[in-house]
Amino acid sequence: MKTVLSGIRPTGNLHLGNYYGAMVNFLKMQEEYKCFFFIADWHALTTHPDPKTLNANVRNVLSEYLACGLNPEKATLYVQSDIPEIAELYLLLNMQAYLGELGKTVSFKEKARQNPNNVNAGLLTYPVLMATDILIHNANYVPVGKDQEQHLEMTRNFAKRFNNKYGVNYFNEPTAFASNQQMIKIPGLDGSGKMGKSEGNCIYLIDEPKVIEKKVKGALTDNGPEGENTAKPDCIENLFTILKVVSTQEVVDYYDNLWNTGEQKWYGNLKKQLAEDIIKVTTPIRERINDIKNDEVYLNKVIKIGAEKARESAGKTLREVREIMGFRSL
Ligand code: AMP
Repeated sequence: MKTVLSGIRPTGNLHLGNYYGAMVNFLKMQEEYKCFFFIADWHALTTHPDPKTLNANVRNVLSEYLACGLNPEKATLYVQSDIPEIAELYLLLNMQAYLGELGKTVSFKEKARQNPNNVNAGLLTYPVLMATDILIHNANYVPVGKDQEQHLEMTRNFAKRFNNKYGVNYFNEPTAFASNQQMIKIPGLDGSGKMGKSEGNCIYLIDEPKVIEKKVKGALTDNGPEGENTAKPDCIENLFTILKVVSTQEVVDYYDNLWNTGEQKWYGNLKKQLAEDIIKVTTPIRERINDIKNDEVYLNKVIKIGAEKARESAGKTLREVREIMGFRSL
């Protein structure tokens, strides 16, 4: 069975973009593949979170993953820092990663530009840690967005380099998960192309209905259609994109028809409907998040089982890599 791996940095709560862009696919994958889903708390260290926040965010993400339906009996759900084997493989792979290639990485250059006072070594070697996350389970597929494509390419390079250097065919060359359908991108409610934490335009799964209503009500719109069958401006297209994932086809057709006939003054109703349908999706998830977050016993059990399963897989890889590299008993 093919192996899928995906990690998430614990930097905040999950939003509708994470849910429709990633989680919905994970829920399908866990039925069909051997899946590893992990919380990348070592990766989060590049921005120096304070200990309390880091810990709270790990608990949040884990609770939200479980509340969305990730099943710890089907997939392996774990916290990166629970797996010391990752740290050792990271050290080994770092010896074969070169300053030139690491310094050229788009995400590194971007982060260094944004934050010139914190260009730490962890930021530079971020792609090596990411490659380690993937190679430690010899994963075949990694569901990544376009922004992560370069890191995956580097992972393939590290895998090939290792195989060539030691004359083995040990590491797979992982590829981006090719989903049958087009990846959905959830836009922001501010007319921007993407809903994202750093964009500050998110509807979070944990948002109370009142908060969602307020956010949707405040979504950017235009003055209405300027005639029949005109093209929708981005801000209106964005509302329809979200409507398409949360509402029924009839609802989408109804509002599409209003747009196409050129009628005016229905945006208020559209927003009401949109908020209502988002709330329908998020309410059961929000309720589960709140239950799970307070269930210390369950969370600890999930973490423990996940760490055991992940360490079994990681330990096997590390033993084999050590052997290949010459770390044998004397
Ligand atoms: P991030 O929250 O940016 O770390 O992203 C975590 C996952 O959610 C990645 O797989 C992203 O591709 C996905 N994701 C984030 N924002 C969106 C969005 N607005 N639409 C679709 N997918 C998204």
